[in-house]
Amino acid sequence: MGDSRSEQRVVVVGAGMAGVQTAVHLREQGWPGGIRLIGSEPHQPYDRPPLSKAVLLGKSEDAAFDVDFGSLGVDLELGRDVTGLRTAERMLETGAGPVAYDHLVIATGAEPVRLPGSEGVPGVHLLRTLDDVARLRPVLAAQGEVVVVGAGWIGAEFTTAARESGCGVTVVEAADQPLPGVLPAEVAEHMRDWYEQSGARLRTGVSVRSVERGGVLLADGTRLAADAVVVGIGSRPATGWLSGSGIELGPYGEVLADDGLHASAPHVYALGDCASFPSARYGERLLVHHWDNALQGSRVVAANIGAETLPDGEAERAVYDPVPYFWSEQFGRFIQYAGHHGAGDEMVRRGDPGEAAWSVCWLRDGVLTALLAVGRPRDLAQGRRLIERRTPVDPGRVADAEVPLKKAVRESP
Ligand SMILES: Cc1cc2nc3c(=O)[nH]c(=O)nc-3n(C[C@H](O)[C@H](O)[C@H](O)COP(=O)(O)OP(=O)(O)OC[C@H]3O[C@@H](n4cnc5c(N)ncnc54)[C@H](O)[C@@H]3O)c2cc1C
Repeated sequence: MGDSRSEQRVVVVGAGMAGVQTAVHLREQGWPGGIRLIGSEPHQPYDRPPLSKAVLLGKSEDAAFDVDFGSLGVDLELGRDVTGLRTAERMLETGAGPVAYDHLVIATGAEPVRLPGSEGVPGVHLLRTLDDVARLRPVLAAQGEVVVVGAGWIGAEFTTAARESGCGVTVVEAADQPLPGVLPAEVAEHMRDWYEQSGARLRTGVSVRSVERGGVLLADGTRLAADAVVVGIGSRPATGWLSGSGIELGPYGEVLADDGLHASAPHVYALGDCASFPSARYGERLLVHHWDNALQGSRVVAANIGAETLPDGEAERAVYDPVPYFWSEQFGRFIQYAGHHGAGDEMVRRGDPGEAAWSVCWLRDGVLTALLAVGRPRDLAQGRRLIERRTPVDPGRVADAEVPLKKAVRESP
């Protein structure tokens, strides 16, 4: 590369958490060149977690990031869709003409999965963007009947807000338990009670056959009347614009990044909800749709753009191998999860799930792999450190909720 660093330009596609934080970290780490941040949404870049919580409830108007793009020297282009990528020419296609890059960061996040046949049906909602929330707030204010499709994280947080607002809520979940594919049934079953206690009705093991104006028809023939239907059945990487680009995609349409978050073309990186990475820690590729992954990944991408442009040996290549972390606020509870558990891991409970606060730990070969904490943030903080350091623990002490997790470390023989 003949250019000096200050003449090179990083273009970031997607102005969500991952894209914005990459721009911020590039500057914090001393990137001297241009940074252009292109996002399809027209709004000042904003954070998503408050959307299903304070912003939905009207307790907060604003989720915009507190970042002064001008003073950081970041050229922000909002309301612009990137539609294609030609890696050989280092060129992006957009409706408003081509954009050249020296280094490209793909941070286009994820799109909610839609219920087949629901598009264009009045009263059917998704919950991903600020515009979705603007359409949902009047639904809550009307205090009518709402059917929520999907008892995942978004379904639970929306149900919490809708019940708090005085709506009647029925949640329909095709699987036999809430949070299918995330938590084992014996843990998720305790969350079923949370729906009931909030006054919502949770129907599991039945899918939605069709959505129509004024309600939904279930596969068992039941018709549920609803003033609004909110669909929360998961999300898929927003990578349609990469088709034909040669960038390698995985089974969920995600960009297959390597352990430095490089995509399969030179000078191209990918992170956040749109990319998976090989986890050496867990021995498998992870696709993580949580906030902390977007934040942690942005540091690594910024570091590696810096390392790539410095003479050999001046900066070390950063490796991305995090302990995944997320939180959720639902039914008056603060839920946190760190790590990644596999089907073969030993599950150890700490405390009684009938109580307000309890945790569940997963162990493999005497080491914590993951931890779920309900109202026990100290367990989370201490457990996360044990996971990070792969510290051997004593399962008996882990199971004792009175023993701080940091004291559950196995004594050497
Ligand atoms: C309602 C809600 C609540 C959440 N709550 C939590 C929580 O409590 N805890 C937690 O850990 N995680 C939570 N998450 C998940 C977390 O917000 C995401 O993991 C995080 O936003 C991912 O950031 P990202 O930048 O990768 O993607 P995104 O936030 O999706 O940002 C990607 C951006 O790229 C833009 N874009 C897409 N395609 C193009 C294109 N072709 N051209 C230009 N721009 C494009 C999109 O419009 C979007 O603005 C929540 C998510 C939602 C939707």
